[in-house]
Amino acid sequence: MMRAHMSPSIPGTVIRSPLERWLNLGGFAATHVGACLAPFVGFRARDVAIAIALYWLRMFAVTAGYHRYFSHRSFKTSRVFQFILAFVGTSCTQKGPLWWAAIHRRHHRESDGPLDVHSPRQRGLFYSHVGWILECAHDDYDPSDVKDLYRYPELRFISRFHMLSVVLLIVVAFLVGGLPAVLWWYCVSTVALWHGSFTINSLSHVWGHRRFATRDDSRNNWVLALVTMGEGWHNNHHRFMQSARQGFYWWQVDASYYVLRALASIGLVWDLREPTARVLAEGLYAPSPWNTGSPSVSSTPRPSSPTGS
Ligand SMILES: [Zn+2]
Ligand SMILES: [Zn+2]
Repeated sequence: MMRAHMSPSIPGTVIRSPLERWLNLGGFAATHVGACLAPFVGFRARDVAIAIALYWLRMFAVTAGYHRYFSHRSFKTSRVFQFILAFVGTSCTQKGPLWWAAIHRRHHRESDGPLDVHSPRQRGLFYSHVGWILECAHDDYDPSDVKDLYRYPELRFISRFHMLSVVLLIVVAFLVGGLPAVLWWYCVSTVALWHGSFTINSLSHVWGHRRFATRDDSRNNWVLALVTMGEGWHNNHHRFMQSARQGFYWWQVDASYYVLRALASIGLVWDLREPTARVLAEGLYAPSPWNTGSPSVSSTPRPSSPTGS
């Protein structure tokens, strides 16, 4: 059904009308303008605290939900909690879990190659950060990339109507605290969340060190790991993407993993996948763990599936 619009070069590519492009750009720009205006419209401690809480809650939904669960199936959970992860994830305004997982699985299959839609190596840092989103050329996805998720009707529903939670958040904010609450709860929190999570597509392939000689440009960066609840250990992740844990060693802080462990202790999630002993040893005894130069080609074959299945 979606293939009719697809580019022959990059599966899933669609060309939007000028009106659709302007609406997309307008919504993105308006959220940024709202974030900038927030301190001048109202500055209440409650709104700031809720904006910060929404940032961390939704960052977890992106990192543990969209990324580690839906894209990589790195742990198991119930169908109800799976839907909760998906629903909260949609409030991040990064489309639905099916689109997100499909695009991300392609990123791992084609890492930094011509078919990777957000590679700094291919089209520069700005394009990898936001350009590919604003271009509207990658708004669709191939369901065959997410067959394991597509079979759930509730995931198809929430992916199709992914703006429901966003509208709900904005309406609740307005009813509770008027315009200042909308600007803080949604605009400030979402702009921070966007650029925090976008750094993993852009800066995490440019800035940091390479503990593992993977076939891409991925880096480990502790600053990005703090901002993104552990996603900044991106070179680790490209080496062993099936793992629910991205900070492989005790000193690599990975807040998403700690929360997942807490959720596992009360039975909400289970079967968290861990890096193998061989991978851990490989990273510990790498000849040049602080190497920031050009990536070398690993002798490790590229995994056939982003989910490791
Ligand atoms: Zn990557
Ligand atoms: Zn990944």
